Amino acid sequence: MKKIAILGSTGSIGTQTLEVVRRNKDIEVLGLSAGSNILLLEKQIREFKPKIAAVWEEEKARELRVRAADTDVRIVSGMEGLISVSRIADVEILVTAIVGMIGIRPTIEAIQAGKDIALANKETLVTAGHIIMPLAREKNISIFPVDSEHSAIFQSLQGNEKKTLKKILLTASGGPFRGKKQEELLDIRVEDALKHPNWSMGQKITIDSSTMVNKGLEVMEAKWLFDVDIDEIQVVIQPQSIIHSMVEYADGAVMAQLGTPDMKLPIQYALYYPERKYLPGERLDFWRIKRLDFEEPDMDTFYALSLAYKAGRAGGTLPTVFNAANELAVRKFLNREIKYLEITEIIEDCMRAHKNRKNPTLEEILDAEAAVYERIESRR
Ligand code: NDP
Ligand code: MG
Repeated sequence: MKKIAILGSTGSIGTQTLEVVRRNKDIEVLGLSAGSNILLLEKQIREFKPKIAAVWEEEKARELRVRAADTDVRIVSGMEGLISVSRIADVEILVTAIVGMIGIRPTIEAIQAGKDIALANKETLVTAGHIIMPLAREKNISIFPVDSEHSAIFQSLQGNEKKTLKKILLTASGGPFRGKKQEELLDIRVEDALKHPNWSMGQKITIDSSTMVNKGLEVMEAKWLFDVDIDEIQVVIQPQSIIHSMVEYADGAVMAQLGTPDMKLPIQYALYYPERKYLPGERLDFWRIKRLDFEEPDMDTFYALSLAYKAGRAGGTLPTVFNAANELAVRKFLNREIKYLEITEIIEDCMRAHKNRKNPTLEEILDAEAAVYERIESRR
């Protein structure tokens, strides 16, 4: 039995990871975690019988201790709680399906404890990739990408020499507002931005997909995962989301991974690598698909993408500023406190005001995040 733990088990990636576990019957789940959804977490505890379950809010944790008193699970809370799930003895792979920079410390702790990482939580790599990647090499652990594009790149790299890789072609659907111009985005409501054309995902990443911030984060994520320069990563709009990403080699050959939009494929590949297991579901039918389209991204309208390239090129604390400003701005947009276009305006404003610090420590990353939050809160 393979042994895993999941940070963010109640979310979109977390529940799909548990679906993969449920079907394969050869994985044991030793740790689970949620932010506040203790009803679902309780069900998961009863079904998967983990040793430890973490809830972010202490009050909710207390409530869950009462509800799950008849089980053997130990319920923990806060950052310490997340870290206990990261470090559970015997766990081989930690699935980081939590959302946001909050995943940095638990991910670092898991690597220090020798766990492999199945990484969905891209914000962690964007902000602390320069700490995480060398640490992973030092501890000789693997980071398996769960993000569909990065899994596609990882799959396309199999059997080829890394040194012959020339370019990463990172595909993007373009989101629900592809083809629109700034003036058409003035009155976008939360409901509009939450409608992704091809994928069903958590709220934050769905908004990020609509602004192209998600693609920007993925460019930075790819830089760290595959050790390439930002400018060797080219974003290609592929509206049908059939090509999940591609790589180009020295001889001009392009390798790609294609499939239906189902996150269970990259999740399962990350958990069983290098094995390719059967996965039920719809298959691509090229007679029906007939054609694939490609476009250049509109970086004037969706200029968050060019801000991401800028942050990625500069490195240091600037990617943290890009990410932290987006995290808070998206939360405010979802709470209907700001308008849609303000998300990118806020990111740009925070990046302009920031004095970049090279090679930041974890503390400096968290300080940069706090400074961004302060700046945004004191607007107007
Ligand atoms: P969801 O919002 O669906 O789930 C987030 C999970 O994190 C939930 O379990 C949530 O708990 C938990 N969580 C949130 N805040 C906290 C907190 N403060 N402390 C502890 N746990 C917390 O997100 P997704 O599954 O969509 O995304 C997760 C990550 O995966 C993100 O980084 C995203 O970018 C990435 N990703 C997602 C894809 C997708 O298809 N969904 C595709 C590729 C990458 P609760 O339920 O209690 O709120
Ligand atoms: Mg993705």
